[in-house]
Amino acid sequence: MSFKDDLETRARELGFVAVGTTTAEPFREAEAAALERTEQGLMDGLPWWTKERIHASADPRRRTPTAQSIVALAFPHPLAPVEDASDGDLRGRIAAYALGRDYHEVLSERMSPLVEMLRGAGHVARTYVDHGWMLDRAASARAGVGWLGKNTNLLVPGVGSYVLLSEIVTSAEIEPDGPSLKSCGSCTACIRGCPTGALVAPGVIDNGKCISFWTIEHRGPVPLEMRPLLGNWIFGCDICQEVCPVNAYPRRAEAGAKTGDAFGAPMVAGRPMLEQLLSLDELQFRDRFRASAIWRARRDGLLRNVCIALGNLADRSAIPALAGALRDREKLIRGHAAWALGQLGGSAARHHLELALRREDDPWVRDECELALEECGPLVVR
Ligand code: SF4
Ligand code: SF4
Repeated sequence: MSFKDDLETRARELGFVAVGTTTAEPFREAEAAALERTEQGLMDGLPWWTKERIHASADPRRRTPTAQSIVALAFPHPLAPVEDASDGDLRGRIAAYALGRDYHEVLSERMSPLVEMLRGAGHVARTYVDHGWMLDRAASARAGVGWLGKNTNLLVPGVGSYVLLSEIVTSAEIEPDGPSLKSCGSCTACIRGCPTGALVAPGVIDNGKCISFWTIEHRGPVPLEMRPLLGNWIFGCDICQEVCPVNAYPRRAEAGAKTGDAFGAPMVAGRPMLEQLLSLDELQFRDRFRASAIWRARRDGLLRNVCIALGNLADRSAIPALAGALRDREKLIRGHAAWALGQLGGSAARHHLELALRREDDPWVRDECELALEECGPLVVR
């Protein structure tokens, strides 16, 4: 067996469901596309996504001057268990990849024996796990790991898109694989299925319309017009993958089965109870999510999203939990709790908003309370 065969065999033993190799030549086409989308404002809201970063991410030799090859890998992540969503509890939704241990750690651990193999053979090896210094989907596509779907995800033949991508840039000269010849064909299910119209063209996403951006990346208040579109997603969104026929059972189930225990026990249910999340204090949030990708949203971001989801579910049984959130230390949470109460309406919601206005001194939260009171409608005096 060649070194490449050994590497691929070991990668599959470690749980990777697809492995491919490409050269370390720059990704000029992907670089041009990324620059164009950035110019068009489709990446707005990501301050770290600069032109310089795109140039560096498109050229592996910028960071590893001796690079000859890129080994691209796909690892299946846990799938959201099918849970009873009609049990009367107010539940949110979380993107499946974030349910277990932080994938950055999981993938780094899994790649470690491969890195040792390369370094043991005298080569330089540098790993990448979704941290923006590698155009990872371009690398995976050129290495034949899968094809770029119209939903912008990499689709692995026979597995689907519920995978996490990682790469090893190495000085080893490894025979490159060709790109996948598969494509989405005439399917447009993801474009039609996206609830916010964020897929503005095949393979092109407008960040400013994507639920994943607003619930994970965005700091600060969510614009009023976006809030109803988030539905009950509180961290990420899987809709454009759920509607994808390539992810259809049984392929996705097989992929999930190979994950083993890499991600540990889920830190949060796929459809968590929202009122419970809203009661988490800083310490409880840290204990529960410190080792999870959800940590990235921070407590104020996650609970902001929980308030929005409760507003969208429009069930007045959430009023006590939201009234409690009107007293949170974080103004971001107080302001969105006010909005949610306005969506629920009724005299109890109005009562809590009026009490909040009496004690609130933050101008933005006061504005939110006043807007919410308008949403509640006029006070009916009997
Ligand atoms: Fe649309 Fe959700 Fe996909 Fe974003 S993640 S493009 S909001 S379906
Ligand atoms: Fe491609 Fe259809 Fe899947 Fe979209 S839903 S990524 S068009 S196969």
